[in-house]
Amino acid sequence: MKFSIKRASLKSLREKRSACLKELEVMKFSIPDISLEELNKNEKELRKKAESLWEGYKFYTDKVEGLKKQASSFFNRIFDREKVERLNKDINSFSILADDYFKKYTDMQDRVLRTQDLYIKRRPYEEKLSFLHDLEKEIVIRENAENKRLRERNKMAENTRQVREIAEDVKAKLLKNKYCPYCGRLINYNGYAHADHIYPIDKGGQSTIENMVYVCSDCNLKKGNMTLGNFIRKYNLDRNYIETQLINLNKDF
Ligand SMILES: [Zn+2]
Repeated sequence: MKFSIKRASLKSLREKRSACLKELEVMKFSIPDISLEELNKNEKELRKKAESLWEGYKFYTDKVEGLKKQASSFFNRIFDREKVERLNKDINSFSILADDYFKKYTDMQDRVLRTQDLYIKRRPYEEKLSFLHDLEKEIVIRENAENKRLRERNKMAENTRQVREIAEDVKAKLLKNKYCPYCGRLINYNGYAHADHIYPIDKGGQSTIENMVYVCSDCNLKKGNMTLGNFIRKYNLDRNYIETQLINLNKDF
């Protein structure tokens, strides 16, 4: 399966990066020291030169063909030895020029092929290099996201720790009521009293004396992060009793 940068984990992206760097290091020794861009430019220029050499070759071969026709027509009509000799001389010298152009043209074609060879060697290196750049980009994005996540997590942990510390402090200062203000039973009939945040912490409730109250562990566990209103409705509790109790204990709710 093809490696997908977007789908891969950060760990495998990092592994891929170091593998890629190693491969590039090895490849570097066998690649031509010229960029693909330059190679493309060179090839274009060489092809242009080859084309104009071919034009030269065509020009002189056409000329030779024309002279040959002329020579044969002379030969057929009137025998003009001097003229035919001159024509033959011209034919020879133009043939030499045509051959010369042809030779230069094939040399130029060879150079085009050699450039293409270099291109073929250079391309995998460039492709790997651009793949490495894509990897690096994705790694930076992921690392930034991860750092942000970590910072947020630390901040949250720190907030929770502070809230808990404040709550412990307030709990120590709370007056211990004997009866649970929610259900009216003796608070420690079934174990220890629990300090409850009347307005829940995760809804923005503070750890203050006015927002914290001792309740029985049953009520505390049942209420969880519910608001007082929801808790009363869910368990069909006596709202008047609860409100009176909380008012007597100087609570805000
Ligand atoms: Zn209770």
